[in-house]
Amino acid sequence: MGKSDMQHEPLLACVGLDRHLVARCATPGCERTAPCDPTHWVAQGLGGLPLRVFSERMRCVCGGRRAQLTVASGPLPNQSGGDVYVFR
Ligand SMILES: [Zn+2]
Repeated sequence: MGKSDMQHEPLLACVGLDRHLVARCATPGCERTAPCDPTHWVAQGLGGLPLRVFSERMRCVCGGRRAQLTVASGPLPNQSGGDVYVFR
């Protein structure tokens, strides 16, 4: 499954013990990325929404208000957030 296809997958299909989310700032020229912990969204009952809708809920220290979420292999690192973080 390609990265673009994942944007249409429900959030809950993109997280698990063997995978985690990485947020990449969408601002041109900004290369910042950070692991993203979706626990807050799942607790709100949003796990069935497609991954792409969460792009608008991210912020970056560069002032960016959008980040693409991608799926990486392996468990979520202990330190999530950072330069690109969940805004709401
Ligand atoms: Zn940025």
